[in-house]
Amino acid sequence: MSRSKTPRPNPPRSLFLTPQDLASITRHAENVYPEEACGLIVGSAAEGGRYKASRVVSSPNFTEQEKHRRFEIDPALRLRLERELRGTDEAVIGHYHSHPDHPAEPSPRDLDLAHEPELIWLIVAVERGKVSASRAFWLDREGRRSHEVPLHHAIDGASSAKARSRRAARKSP
Ligand SMILES: [Zn+2]
Repeated sequence: MSRSKTPRPNPPRSLFLTPQDLASITRHAENVYPEEACGLIVGSAAEGGRYKASRVVSSPNFTEQEKHRRFEIDPALRLRLERELRGTDEAVIGHYHSHPDHPAEPSPRDLDLAHEPELIWLIVAVERGKVSASRAFWLDREGRRSHEVPLHHAIDGASSAKARSRRAARKSP
């Protein structure tokens, strides 16, 4: 009967990303391998939970230790972006990070860190220096679950290739 303390106004149902943005995430993840890459995703959310990225902004990995298995986005970068976006239709809608030699799915630590339920998590797996998968999720920290958000590479709004999410997407509520 009790309501969640942090209701989700607009659960992400899909994420549209340009091929250029996906390519720049891929490049970043491969360049810093075997460390984790991270960055922010700027965009907007439409009715029905359709999220559209307008750009991605890479961040240095701010974590002080174990950069190959942890990431921390530069807090000053986040603040600067939030300030810049104030009063516009856009916001920070999510972030990305890489999993060097681990699958593109949220780790238990990722679930621990999911304090902001409205953010999309884009995770790219990097196998021996090459990106092998890119998938998006929203994370339910309290329920200890993640839900895959189908990832589309949008070209002028028209969706084309759908990333490796078909099977898992069907499991989403
Ligand atoms: Zn992770």
